[in-house]
Amino acid sequence: MKKPYELVSLKDGGSKTKIKVGNIKIGGQKFVVMAGPCSIEDRAQVRAIAKFVKDAGATVLRGGAFKPRTSPYSFQGLGISGLKHIREAADEFGLLVVSEIMDARFLDSFLQYVDIIQVGARNMQNFDLLKELGRIQKPVLLKRGFGNTVEELLCAAEYLLSGGNSEVILCERGIKTFETGTRSTLDISAIPILKSKTHLPVIVDPSHAAGRRDIVPALSRAALAAGADGLLLEVHHRPTTALCDGEQALLPKQLKTLVKDLDAMARVMNRSL
Ligand code: PEP
Ligand code: MN
Repeated sequence: MKKPYELVSLKDGGSKTKIKVGNIKIGGQKFVVMAGPCSIEDRAQVRAIAKFVKDAGATVLRGGAFKPRTSPYSFQGLGISGLKHIREAADEFGLLVVSEIMDARFLDSFLQYVDIIQVGARNMQNFDLLKELGRIQKPVLLKRGFGNTVEELLCAAEYLLSGGNSEVILCERGIKTFETGTRSTLDISAIPILKSKTHLPVIVDPSHAAGRRDIVPALSRAALAAGADGLLLEVHHRPTTALCDGEQALLPKQLKTLVKDLDAMARVMNRSL
């Protein structure tokens, strides 16, 4: 019988996957910083954020247009017009775009406007969605479900690779535990464990793990130290008015300082941003 995640497994002496997106490579010596708002709120908001994200030295702009909200009364995202806004802002400042897909019916729009398609924690085991994304040739950022094991994450990634899409980036974003000091518990162990089991790049989302901006820089530095290939960060220039996740959004100045610190750390580790 086949291993449940044969294709994502790191073989003895096998090489690590590097994913080329636009002018950057994810995986290998490089450490990628993706940053942006939780949600795209309007054209001006995403443009203002893109400007400081670029200025800080990040290369990928994040932002949700289709939001998986716990309550149906919470802001659900701008939909396709949000994708157009983030594309426009990213192009103006020379950034790449990552955004979450929830429904394969919108795949054509994602193929048109987005460089990396994100699958959120809640959809990590939406196997029909994974099968659809296995048929395309565009990088997928697959987040670990907050109730899922590392093995289950690898099996979910196997759906993409076995479908024919080998451009997959894994993302640790925290798991549910009994701890109430944070929104989720960042599973730092998952980073070296994933790196030992798979050739795929592994990034970390400290924002959703923490749920509070004050500890995001520390978790970000820990992620780099533990061997992650990059970060997915939430940032906002006016977090108190953010329509989603304002409490965990870093301010422009904090992002700039963090990227500077990560750059210094990366050099010590023989890596670079
Ligand atoms: C997000 O990154 O916008 C998000 C909803 O995160 P998660 O799927 O990890 O909860
Ligand atoms: Mn969010």
